[in-house]
Amino acid sequence: MRDFSTDHRWLSINTATVRRQRGLDWGLLDILDACAARGIRAVAPWRDQVAAAGLQNVAQRLLAHGIELSGYCRGGMFTYTDAAGLQAVRDDNRRALDEACTLGAPCLVLVVGGLPGALAGKPAHKDIAGAREQVTEGIGALLQDARERGMPLAIEPLHPMYAADRACINTLSQALDVCDALDPTRSGALGVAVDAYHVWWDPQLQAQIERAGRERLLALHVCDWLTPTTDLLEDRGMMGDGVIDLPQLRGWVEDAGFAGYSEVEIFSRANWWQREGGEVLDTCIERHRRCV
Ligand code: ZN
Repeated sequence: MRDFSTDHRWLSINTATVRRQRGLDWGLLDILDACAARGIRAVAPWRDQVAAAGLQNVAQRLLAHGIELSGYCRGGMFTYTDAAGLQAVRDDNRRALDEACTLGAPCLVLVVGGLPGALAGKPAHKDIAGAREQVTEGIGALLQDARERGMPLAIEPLHPMYAADRACINTLSQALDVCDALDPTRSGALGVAVDAYHVWWDPQLQAQIERAGRERLLALHVCDWLTPTTDLLEDRGMMGDGVIDLPQLRGWVEDAGFAGYSEVEIFSRANWWQREGGEVLDTCIERHRRCV
């Protein structure tokens, strides 16, 4: 297992971690500058942040700083109710792929979607099995475009509390079943993003990480699970403040062959988003050394 205790060369910052700092309007370019100033070598930006800053501006700033991506957030949301919805899903995911290519991402992360309409509070039906079929079909269709562009797809299983509205793929086992069905040769074009927050509780976690192996392990996201958790979406903890054994998880993914970045992804409305962005980044560096 790699020693993270003396430097942070394998730290990546998911840019949602410092996106809403109180009193400071940190656009993506500001975030890139702040990361560069601290020797942070990688980030994972979100599409809306890229759009706000301008795709070409972001690409140029990344190049100027020598910062690379650990992933691009995100494609997916594959479920739909009619032909127009399906077309919109396909168009949007192709755009996401193109942006990922422009930014030189190692993978496009997929949050696959839940029951159509549920995220807006109006679920169209209760057929989660049907939603899962649409997801598998959607990933299959996108995989063809992704192969043409040479852009791997990383399915991110989300904690089951998001099954209705954000992602009906909820375990690593489920995600790997989809990978095996659509990419049986383990070509490298399709894999998973392992986010500690979503999968830490899974009794099959170690076995499924071994099953995934190097070809399927495309990204590692870290933060911590707080007790109590007070918000289903925006109360993620800083590494070391919760109950996830992050070194154990990192050991498992590295034993399986993963050698990429550990990407800090913290949505924290009441705590970390209330602090000055530089303080948050400095804390990420310190905790990455000590707790990941
Ligand atoms: Zn994640």
